[in-house]
Amino acid sequence: MNAATPPAMSTGSPPALRLQDLHLLYTACRLCDGLPPRHEILFDNINRLLKNVIKVEEYCLLLENPETGLFEVWSGDDRVMAAAGDHAFRTGDGIAAAVVERGEAVLIIDSGGDRRLPTAYREILPGIGSFLSLPLTAGTGKVFGVLNLHRSRPCSFTEHDRMLFLEIANNLATAIQRTRLYEQARREAIRDELTGVYNRRYFVEHISHELFRVQRCLSPLALALLDLDHFKKINDSHGHQTGDRILAELGRLLRCGLRRSDLIARYGGEEFIIMLPDTTMSAARRLLTKLLRETTRNLGTTGASPLPPVTFTAGLAIFPEDGQTFDKLLATADQRLYLGKHLGRNRVITTTPPSQQSCPP
Ligand code: GH3
Ligand code: MG
Ligand code: MG
Repeated sequence: MNAATPPAMSTGSPPALRLQDLHLLYTACRLCDGLPPRHEILFDNINRLLKNVIKVEEYCLLLENPETGLFEVWSGDDRVMAAAGDHAFRTGDGIAAAVVERGEAVLIIDSGGDRRLPTAYREILPGIGSFLSLPLTAGTGKVFGVLNLHRSRPCSFTEHDRMLFLEIANNLATAIQRTRLYEQARREAIRDELTGVYNRRYFVEHISHELFRVQRCLSPLALALLDLDHFKKINDSHGHQTGDRILAELGRLLRCGLRRSDLIARYGGEEFIIMLPDTTMSAARRLLTKLLRETTRNLGTTGASPLPPVTFTAGLAIFPEDGQTFDKLLATADQRLYLGKHLGRNRVITTTPPSQQSCPP
């Protein structure tokens, strides 16, 4: 379909599909099906489909944010992203209501003489001559997104396009849903539900890769193992639910105190493990001591209601001095953690006394 496509029949049964349309539908299916379910790849294919095959001049893809219920711009041309990239809209009236609430495609053949194209849209993105807004519908029938297609020449979308492009939008909707579900499942599979930090399996996988990297470039890497102090007593005196809230809040505070390149996971019940790439032992000790001081101070003051004060003890180990493998580093950090418990808790331990050193790393 292109700007030269003549309007299809005006009344009666839906216009018949032509060979060219079937080719278009086939291409749309091919570009969306069987993809690795990653949204970068999907959005790249959607862009190719719309620009190279359907030949729209511009498009804007909006998806519902399930947390806010707002429709946010996810993808589009440079002009769309620059002008509307951080826009979000609520359904309620006008085109949005028709598309989102009734699941209907809205066609504005000539926006010059049709006031349905909202003023705000015209102001942000001037020069749209013909406009087609398509619902993206999940299997449940609920509209979770909107695909707006723009052409600068009036009358360049037709009634026939409305029908044909709705079929393509259904295809895209299925592919987007599949990708979103896959990505959500993946996020959940690598995170600890209570604390929001990564889980142990993800951490172990990730640190193995990171150790390969630091072995090649010979940069230091610090590993910290943290265990909350007297947590059983906290549970006993304040209840298990409060214990859970402490763990959740601590997970959040620890995450906030780390760099993007660091990695934190819940290692066990009330134990956390942290990987600090490119970090020396003295820098790691300073960071852990600061985290201990700040989380202890902030735990009681943030959140909906105050939490009892909690401290933790941490054992630190460093690559390459304390070991070359994850198992060796973990054993050393664990040994220092328990030394810290023995010395009175609420501290960070970075060395092992000679009497406890069993063999060279
Ligand atoms: P220590 O200072 O020696 O570490 O004392 P502790 O009481 O913290 O001892 P330990 O580490 O052996 O005990 C862990 C406690 O953490 C026992 C368990 O009730 C609690 N715990 C583990 N997982 C959870 C959880 O998910 N939620 C809550 N609320 N408590 C947990
Ligand atoms: Mg423990
Ligand atoms: Mg403990």
